[in-house]
Amino acid sequence: MVYVALKPSYDADVIIAGAGPAGAAAACHLTRAGASVILLDRMTFPRDKVCGDFVGPSALIELDSLGISEMDGFARTNIARRAALYIDGEALIARPFPMIEGMPSFGRVIPRLALDNFIVDAARSAGARVMEGYSLAGFAAGGDAVAVEAANSKGHFTLRCRQLIGADGGSSTVARLMRGSAPPRRDRFIASRAYFANVEGPDDQLDVYFGHSSFPGYCWLFPTGNGEANVGLGMALETWPAHNRTPADMLRRLMRDDAALAARLRNASLRGKIVGWPLITYNHRLPIVSGRVMLIGDAAGLINPLNGEGIQYALLSARWAAETLAPCLREDDFSARALAPFAARVESEMRYDMALSRLIVQLIGNRALTPLWIGASKIIAVRAHKDANYASTVSGIFAGLLPARDALKVVGGTVGQAVRSLASKAVTTALSGPRGWAGPGVGTAQGRFQLASDAAKDPAGFAEWLIGAAACAIELGSQASRNAIAGKPKGTVVSAQKLSGLGIGLPGKIATDDF
Ligand SMILES: Cc1cc2nc3c(=O)[nH]c(=O)nc-3n(C[C@H](O)[C@H](O)[C@H](O)COP(=O)(O)OP(=O)(O)OC[C@H]3O[C@@H](n4cnc5c(N)ncnc54)[C@H](O)[C@@H]3O)c2cc1C
Repeated sequence: MVYVALKPSYDADVIIAGAGPAGAAAACHLTRAGASVILLDRMTFPRDKVCGDFVGPSALIELDSLGISEMDGFARTNIARRAALYIDGEALIARPFPMIEGMPSFGRVIPRLALDNFIVDAARSAGARVMEGYSLAGFAAGGDAVAVEAANSKGHFTLRCRQLIGADGGSSTVARLMRGSAPPRRDRFIASRAYFANVEGPDDQLDVYFGHSSFPGYCWLFPTGNGEANVGLGMALETWPAHNRTPADMLRRLMRDDAALAARLRNASLRGKIVGWPLITYNHRLPIVSGRVMLIGDAAGLINPLNGEGIQYALLSARWAAETLAPCLREDDFSARALAPFAARVESEMRYDMALSRLIVQLIGNRALTPLWIGASKIIAVRAHKDANYASTVSGIFAGLLPARDALKVVGGTVGQAVRSLASKAVTTALSGPRGWAGPGVGTAQGRFQLASDAAKDPAGFAEWLIGAAACAIELGSQASRNAIAGKPKGTVVSAQKLSGLGIGLPGKIATDDF
């Protein structure tokens, strides 16, 4: 008797759910490497996505490597060369982005309606089969294939592939099914966004506005060109004030009350609606691979909690996923072990910086300390006026050019000490129980008094904040010691390895190394 081994049949090597920047970029990389790819999205393109639309220098390098900067219309998208910070309506700093060797010294503000369409077009031209208007409704990963249940207005049907990539954004169905639960509350942020025409002021300047009423969140105004701008507000869900305002109401109020923002919008008219959107930030404890399945971009939670930036991580994780899959496709091994290098890459590139960002967000998340942070920001302003390098660092952090660890350098000597003492205090205090919460050493007398009275008013909420801060400090400490043991610099996504991989040389000494 002759036995014939039947090869399982597949609709594609890889199915990618979600055609945002992560999914479409992964489709480009994989098809260029010879894989057959189906790119599914529940929407039809061009489609809007609620975002600040800022595409930082690191993301521009990734887009360039996909040939997108050569596409028709890309060069006409708006360039941002400067960043300005305001506190309570007062101008704090306005600086050009810092010069870092091998990086563009500018970003772009590209409405997602256009940006995502550029990347989907690139994926289509590279040979990906783009299926618009199809949702991933479920999947089953088995021994030799993944069965993907796709749905559109006509019904449900099944597609088979060797590997599934979940690039379906912050409310990812793939992530929820893979992990068996939704992300925890502390990873969630909330934001709202609106477009305006007839905006005053320079088209090449990104504005970020802090104020007592919005802190620890912030507003932004990012010009999209021709006097138009994207205006929004972002804040950690846990720090959302205990009133019933929606994100849209809150943004409306800040546009009226913040003198600097109101000045830029003096003659502006709203285009369309103010729209709210949730964000999920990075949590290293949640898995991003399992057998035959991996998550990239927002589906993997790759958003920086400090500045809300996610496009560069979406594009980077797409490339890292494709690089991991090359040997898997060759050797027909899609086991969790074979996919693990992707998770390790994400962790080594991002975990330290994300841990530090989260610690900063957690510490500033306590409203009792708002006067301390606002006061410290004003000290930063005074120093920035005198010191150009220092001011460049501040604008570089907000442009996503410099890693979050530089945020501590910025606040070094002022709030830096407070951050460190708050972090260690949080650890000891969380462990010492309610009596320790009113104790000394939290930074300022005002902050200390307020913390003690907060603890008395809402002991459970206060304990939760302290434990959160303690957990962040411990996570950061463990990352710092891992990095020290490994003898590598503390997590920079803009790594020498990446830049040399793109053939644009190693980054030079950043002008801000002296801090
Ligand atoms: C208000 C706000 C402001 C922001 N500002 C910035 C900024 O200025 N700069 C920056 O870098 N980042 C910013 N971000 C973050 C940025 O928007 C995200 O990090 C980025 O969109 C991630 O890309 P992605 O491809 O992973 O996900 P997405 O862009 O969300 O794309 C996911 C895609 O999956 C599709 N999809 C969802 N579910 C399914 C399904 N079941 N089946 C098929 N398709 C599905 C969706 O239609 C969508 O097209 C902001 C986010 C918010 C909310």
